[in-house]
Parts: sequence; structure tokens; C-alpha cells
Amino acid sequence: MKFRHFIFDIEGTTTPISFVHEILFPYSKKNLKSFLEKNHIEKNILEDLKNENKIDNEKKLFSFGIESFEKQIDYLEFLISVDRKSKPLKEIQGKIWEIGYKSGELKSILFSDVFSFFKKIKSSDSEISIYSSGSVEAQKLIFEYSNQGNLKPFISNYFDTTVGGKRESDSYKNILKELKANSSECVFFTDINEEAYAAKNIGVEVFLMIREGNLLQAENDHKKLKSFDEFN
Ligand SMILES: [Mg+2]
Repeated sequence: MKFRHFIFDIEGTTTPISFVHEILFPYSKKNLKSFLEKNHIEKNILEDLKNENKIDNEKKLFSFGIESFEKQIDYLEFLISVDRKSKPLKEIQGKIWEIGYKSGELKSILFSDVFSFFKKIKSSDSEISIYSSGSVEAQKLIFEYSNQGNLKPFISNYFDTTVGGKRESDSYKNILKELKANSSECVFFTDINEEAYAAKNIGVEVFLMIREGNLLQAENDHKKLKSFDEFN
């Protein structure tokens, strides 16, 4: 294949946005209390949560401390309700999803063209990387427990926002550095205009995914794909 590195966004690219918002997030919300009743929040996660809570107290966004179990649940539900990209919340959600996937109660949804495309890339000795704002652990679960089987063996690298935000070119520079790759060896697939420009600005080839359920993007000059089957 023309590129050595294929980099994929998840939501709106490999996976319908509706899976994340209508299945994954409600699942973690529904199971939050029973999970916390059975599992103590790990010390370092609780520390991060307390720090975040303190800032919200100061800003008067949430008016309680989280010393008690009940208030910890209230606070986590608050973070979910405002769609906060919170590290401790993500870690707790990841653990809840892991239990759901392993029990068979959760199964991720991948678009029907993903499996064959990943297989094609791997068989041509190119590498597959994932770059998503969900945590690396959550990303791995999505590809391991999918409606198309376990796609994890196809994937070489996972990146989350520890390399930087998805709309910043520096993040893509960091990814290239970790892949030890030049921009001309890489192609990135995403459904978001700003992410596409952030990667394109450093010379990465980009395709904007036009999938059912994706948000309409501002006018742009990106190459577009409705399906990976169109890629050649
Ligand atoms: Mg996306």
C-alpha cells in the first residue's frame, strides 16, 4: 500500500457516533453505582477526582465535597452530565466497560468495511494506529469486543490525548515522532474537519469520512470517503 502508517479516529470513522452516545455512555452511567459499591476507587484515581472536585467547588459548579460515597456518585454523575473530559471519570468508565465487554453484555459496533480494510492493510505490511480522545484502554476494548470479532491483533499503536488535542497539529507531530515516521508515509482518517486540517497542516494525507450519523462539517477541500472500500 502507498502508506506505511494508517491512522484512524474511532467515533464517526470506524464506529458509529450513536454507539458511543447511545450505548457506551449510558451503560457506564447506569452501572456506576453498582460498580462503586463493589469496587473501591483506587487511591490515585480518587486523588485526581478530589482535585477536580476542589476546582469545581471553587468555581461554584458543584457545591459539595466528595468525602462520602454518595457524593462521589453524585459528582461522577455530574461530570458525565456535563460531558467533561475528566481523567478519573474516564478511568472509572473504562473499568465499568471492561466488565461489560467481558461479560458479553457490551459489544462494540464497527462499520462493516473496517475488518476487511484492516486485513488488507496488515497483509501489505503497513501499520495501523488509532488516535482517539477516549482512553487507550477504552480504545482497546472497542476493537477487541466488536461485532466483527477481535480486531486488536491488527493494531500496532494506540494514541489518546496524552499526545495532545485532536485539533492541534503538534499532536500529529508527536504521533509521527513516536511512529518514527515522516508525514508523507502517513494517512489519517477522521470525520472532523478541524482534525483533518490539523494533520494536513504537517503534511499528513487526510481523508474525511462521510458516514451515516456523522455531523455535517463546514465547507472544506478534504478528500472524502463514504467507505474504506473506496480507498485505493
Ligand atoms: Mg471522530
